[in-house]
Amino acid sequence: VDEFEIIRTYFATQPETRADVVLGIGDDAALLRVPLGHELVATTDTLVAGVHFLADTDPADLGYRALAVNLSDLAAMGAEPAWATLSLTLPDAEPRWLEGFCRGFYELSREFGVQLVGGNLAHGPLNITVGAYGHVPVDTALRRDGAGVGDAIYVTGVLGDAALALNHVLGRQLLDAVAFASVRARLVRPHPRVAEGLRLRGIASAAIDISDGLLADLGHVLAASGVGARIELSRLPVSDVYRGEFARAGWEPALTQGDDYELCFSVPPGRVAALEALTPMLGCRITRIGEAVSEAGLTVLDASGHRYVARHAGYDHFTQHANKGN
Ligand SMILES: [Mg+2]
Repeated sequence: VDEFEIIRTYFATQPETRADVVLGIGDDAALLRVPLGHELVATTDTLVAGVHFLADTDPADLGYRALAVNLSDLAAMGAEPAWATLSLTLPDAEPRWLEGFCRGFYELSREFGVQLVGGNLAHGPLNITVGAYGHVPVDTALRRDGAGVGDAIYVTGVLGDAALALNHVLGRQLLDAVAFASVRARLVRPHPRVAEGLRLRGIASAAIDISDGLLADLGHVLAASGVGARIELSRLPVSDVYRGEFARAGWEPALTQGDDYELCFSVPPGRVAALEALTPMLGCRITRIGEAVSEAGLTVLDASGHRYVARHAGYDHFTQHANKGN
């Protein structure tokens, strides 16, 4: 099958056309105009069949997810997403698969005004690499290294539903049909917290997206910032489904499994009031789960104030990232 024919058919007919794309698909490289006074924010992530997803996954879900995990990284930087690139390695150019993949990818790219500006196709085992690019005003990006002692630690949304869905799919812990239906989307179509990331600029002192589990990802923030933290299990935001499964699942899915793609961020005491004022404008709940402390390490306290030790360190999930850098 002719690569150029595929590009023409599926990738040159996308919904988004941005004024800041001087040159998109079709030349040797794209020409993109970053707004004056802004910094370019770039990230990339690879999904490999059999490692990060099951080979028979709905291609529309894959297209959505491949872009979503990258937009989540931009959200965690407080960046406004603008452009994406896509490198696909395919065992065969199956039109139904490509049509479905593009449908899912474009559903999300349209929502966030992201234009696909380049990529390539190769023949081989199924491998999906997406790059996402955005921008932030100079010196306003949310980084991992800005948390200070005394900062409050928050998370967006609820934690653990994607892990419950994955455990069900893998046969580790079966959910009833109603419960699975309500958590499945959190696994196959994570919705990146882009709007929330933008609102947190100037308020959060550090941020990260939760891809590998709260403990692992908050741990990255603490290490980069040179502080410790204390969080309370009784404050962790979980769904009604999660509460219903709690006797069997315990805290592990919410703490260590990941795939939530929520934001975890720190806020200095002087900016907590500004954050609270912001909450009606956010698309999701935010929950204060603890605070940064001077003593190194992450201490997790249960409802009776005892130290809780997680069974897993994180990364113990089927859809784990090949690249831990993002
Ligand atoms: Mg990340």
